[in-house]
Amino acid sequence: MARPSAAVPAPRWRLPAAVRRWFDTEAGAQVADPADARRIAWLRAVPFIGMHLACLGALWTGVSWVAVIVAVLLYAVRMFAITAFYHRYFSHRTFEASRGVQFVFAVIGAASVQRGPLWWAAHHRTHHRHADQAEDPHSPRTQGFWRSHMGWFLTRAAFATDWGRIPDLVKYPELRWLDRFDLVVPVALAAGLYLLGSVLEATAPGLHTNGPQMLVWGFFISTVVLFHATVTINSLAHRFGRRRFPTRDDSRNNFWLALLTFGEGWHNNHHFFPGTARQGFRWWEVDLTWYGLRAMAALGLVRGLKPVPAWVLAKAER
Ligand SMILES: [Zn+2]
Ligand SMILES: [Zn+2]
Repeated sequence: MARPSAAVPAPRWRLPAAVRRWFDTEAGAQVADPADARRIAWLRAVPFIGMHLACLGALWTGVSWVAVIVAVLLYAVRMFAITAFYHRYFSHRTFEASRGVQFVFAVIGAASVQRGPLWWAAHHRTHHRHADQAEDPHSPRTQGFWRSHMGWFLTRAAFATDWGRIPDLVKYPELRWLDRFDLVVPVALAAGLYLLGSVLEATAPGLHTNGPQMLVWGFFISTVVLFHATVTINSLAHRFGRRRFPTRDDSRNNFWLALLTFGEGWHNNHHFFPGTARQGFRWWEVDLTWYGLRAMAALGLVRGLKPVPAWVLAKAER
């Protein structure tokens, strides 16, 4: 017979809430002391820091062509998921997708270790609303370069999600689950890569790869490069480049950042008119995500891509 719950002794010790939140972002009370909000939560940030240190594992595992190819492919697929879906779809609703396609790309985005789609969209909407003002989560104008690049991502304030910003997204339980357990998809990807490397070592020894090597290149190095490439848009694209439109913020158009991030470098265009699925406004403004979305639309996977309005194009040509 079950004992009454009151008789169950309280555990003698518990992991600190910051550690439990590595696995369950909703673990423990979330009330943050406002005075602490902008400080870096070092214990909470241990997996993020560990991911960077794990890149040094390459010194032991060495490298092979197949590991580099997998790393590059995973960079490309996940960068597309971040820019097309986390950014242009979830944050800005610039096209439509079925619930299945939405979920598949939310999972691929979650594999980027940039937290869940709801967290990402809520912060990004706050960025647009307050760009380069005091309430902007990441502004080089108000916080300096390093904080706008990565320090902000690790603060107590930034770990929380402002649900009020994303009323259109919280209704999907599968997306809330991805946000709550945001470590699950990355761990599954890491485990899958280890397995792939081990299978290749056994079946194709001529490729000179193995589990640890595939894990280091395919997961850790690819993910760390992907993270830093993504956040250049918060740091460098608000500092270096051309300002075509006199927006209230410091956003810039930067060709090199646009190549690196599949089109996100046309950031001044984007701040001027965020309501389009396209960020390169001229034919020479390379926007790989836009081409990818056009291909997906041709295949019937997405629809209703919002174009750049004629009045915006006319201004861009001046
Ligand atoms: Zn911006
Ligand atoms: Zn945006």
